[in-house]
Amino acid sequence: MCGIAAWMGELPYYNLYQLLLEQQHRGHDAAGIAIRYRSDLRVFGGGGYVWKALPEPESISLESKLGIGHVRYSTSGGYDEVYQPVLSNNRTIALAFNGNIYNYVEASKEILGDRKSYDWDAAAFADLIEHYYGETRSLIEAVRETAKLVKGAYSLVVISSKGELVAARDPHGIRPLAVSINDEVVAVASETAALGALGLNWAELPRSGALYCQGSPRNCYTDSIASAKPPRPCVFEYIYFLRPDSVFEGVVAHEARKRMGMLLARIDDVVVDLVVPVPDSGRSAAIGYAIEKGVPLDEGLYRNRFVGRAFISSPSIRKRRLLRKFSPIPSTIRGRRVAIVDDSIVRGDTSRWITRLARASGAREVHFRSASPPLRYPCFFGIDIPSRDELIASKHSVEEIRRIIGADTLLYNTVENLVKAIGKPVCLGCFTSKYPYPLHLQLLEQRFVSGRR
Ligand code: SF4
Repeated sequence: MCGIAAWMGELPYYNLYQLLLEQQHRGHDAAGIAIRYRSDLRVFGGGGYVWKALPEPESISLESKLGIGHVRYSTSGGYDEVYQPVLSNNRTIALAFNGNIYNYVEASKEILGDRKSYDWDAAAFADLIEHYYGETRSLIEAVRETAKLVKGAYSLVVISSKGELVAARDPHGIRPLAVSINDEVVAVASETAALGALGLNWAELPRSGALYCQGSPRNCYTDSIASAKPPRPCVFEYIYFLRPDSVFEGVVAHEARKRMGMLLARIDDVVVDLVVPVPDSGRSAAIGYAIEKGVPLDEGLYRNRFVGRAFISSPSIRKRRLLRKFSPIPSTIRGRRVAIVDDSIVRGDTSRWITRLARASGAREVHFRSASPPLRYPCFFGIDIPSRDELIASKHSVEEIRRIIGADTLLYNTVENLVKAIGKPVCLGCFTSKYPYPLHLQLLEQRFVSGRR
């Protein structure tokens, strides 16, 4: 998962920096900003959080009115040595995208030949767009031609050294993207909440939709890059990634999560005294669960917000981060029958650690609840779950998982409840193995796992 942004108007670097800060939860492996300066594209970036990866806005004084930015959560390529936006081979375009192009090896070979071998989808994607840009002389046409070829999930922003901007979403609309346009400014962000935080009105770009601007916010039009396919917004955006105040396909993330919790409570007949959310991603679902159960909700776990999101960290630091991330509030938990509600159970490490903390704090019973169903299959559309080996539910039954995490009971939500809570058709590939595109799972697991370091 990543966050992207574009800005056409005054002070692009400053405003992109703000948009990236508002989307820091979507990735903290790296961050970058590309600015069009005169007829060149300048890229700034590095590893880590926005404030670490990028120069302070006050220190950048380029005369410019166009740029794009990216916060990276690595799902392809290395974990921390690369960042977006990427410059194309001949520096004519800069691209930032959120998603995964799973056929980038075949697509780049077919069109660009063997002169360069790619181990990162973003680099291949940028060079493909540049190739078609050279042929068509139009950035929107170049994106359109590339869209005929690439398979996967992408929300993208791309700028040319001539001053064009294109923002677009893939035909299934797997990843979110929103735009804000007035006479002075065009702003684009992965999440509506980022645009709202800067005081901008926004509209979601429809699947297959594109915004094309030539030189000025007064010279923009919306279009499409391909025929739209059945909508398949990523269900994991609703479960975990989006800020609770963001809207995706017309659905507020917080409300969808609350409904997941409510529907989960309806299939749960265990009696508890207290509902404890796993902060912060389980909180909205826990609120819904507590309302439906008629049981008080209280904070029983403190999450250190300066440690970062464990799920979007590289494996080497994920474990260390987890140990430092949570600490219990024993006065809330002691002597109680506790339902601990999290958004999901991925590898099982967090659930096991939290259950252990609750028991050590004197909980009488610990009932672990997952607002989403068992996660059994990998994702090749922008979430870093490249292999079934990493998913506890692909190797163990629910009862085995209960024993592994050490809970008295364990309950997952159902796929039906998940769909009902969102109220829209969604991609459920990682729960059902029915993906938006037919996939060769084994081949992709090899490609994406071996591409990681
Ligand atoms: S497979 Fe899962 S994580 Fe990936 S896009 Fe589909 S719903 Fe999202």
